[in-house]
Amino acid sequence: MVDIKSMDLEELTAWLKDQGEPAYRAKQVFQWLYRGITSFEEMTNLPKALRQKLEEQCVLTPPRVARKQASADGTIKYLWQLADGNCIETVLMRYRHGNTVCISSQVGCRMGCAFCASTLAGRVRDLTPGEMIDQVLFTQTDSGLPVSNLVLMGIGEPLDNFDTVLKFLHLVNCPEGLNIGMRHISLSTCGLTEKIDKLAQYGLQLTLSVSLHAPDDDTRSRLMPVNRSVGVEKLMETCRRYFQTTGRRISYEYAMIDGVNDAPWQADRLAELLRGTPGHVNLIPLNQVEESPLKPSRHLAAFQKRLESQGIPVTVRRRLGGDIDASCGQLRRRAMRESRNTGRKEDDIP
Ligand code: SAH
Repeated sequence: MVDIKSMDLEELTAWLKDQGEPAYRAKQVFQWLYRGITSFEEMTNLPKALRQKLEEQCVLTPPRVARKQASADGTIKYLWQLADGNCIETVLMRYRHGNTVCISSQVGCRMGCAFCASTLAGRVRDLTPGEMIDQVLFTQTDSGLPVSNLVLMGIGEPLDNFDTVLKFLHLVNCPEGLNIGMRHISLSTCGLTEKIDKLAQYGLQLTLSVSLHAPDDDTRSRLMPVNRSVGVEKLMETCRRYFQTTGRRISYEYAMIDGVNDAPWQADRLAELLRGTPGHVNLIPLNQVEESPLKPSRHLAAFQKRLESQGIPVTVRRRLGGDIDASCGQLRRRAMRESRNTGRKEDDIP
């Protein structure tokens, strides 16, 4: 079966041509797909025979809303159930600069970060480009809100599913589809250096966020197993190289954790690391994960001030959706826990 949602317009044109269809059909089909249709029957300006052929040869597997939570601040969190029963999360955040959707790139994650709910049960599988596109389309359809910005900060490590993520970026960029420009997209990584170098070669104008979370190897290796093979120094070298190649400033994410990475000396070390490297620090108040003993820091303001006094640009992430488990993987995790308690499988979620 053909995964039609993962095709770009050129691939779709070539495939339809092989089926003996004229070139203009591809654009029609593509536009229907990006309107979020859920069956080929809905493509009403296509001949019935073509609709039938698509039905027989292609898969169109729209995700089902397994759970949906709306926050008082307008944030909506979706737990989508995919065709194979696995669940992923997508979050819609309403900023003044536009509606932003936070996309998952994998079912689960294998990076093992100590503070993150997404990784607790490991990685189940990679998503397809079509499954990533569907998160944007169906969030738009369900909420009735147009999406102008994307962040790849949901479940999974985007650079661990590199080719798919690259294809997804190409697809969302397409004027006949979602038409979202690279400057409206952020991609967050735990710091896979070889993949950061590879990404740099494409020269995309997206914003790269690097989850740093600690300026010293001892702390970072404790929080993020990925640091055990590539230390902070090599990561920062890679980040500098990324800036030189792409001209894009990196945003460094730093989740503030009580008594772990919030000491004054760590602010000083962080400032030292970033001195002379264009980029800024985004301090994130830790979202507490039930299974983890880590607690939110009580020294966020002091840490911020200490960085700023050393000339480092700092922003503090607004806590959108704090009342609805809106941090990576928390809703999926909760659903998995509850279904275990009731003896149901994840794919039985009502
Ligand atoms: N795998 C990618 C993207 C996923 S998470 C990455 O590691 O960057 C997006 C951001 O949320 C990352 O910076 C991640 O470290 C952070 N994060 C994960 N769990 C968190 C939590 N409980 N509280 C605050 N930030 C968290």
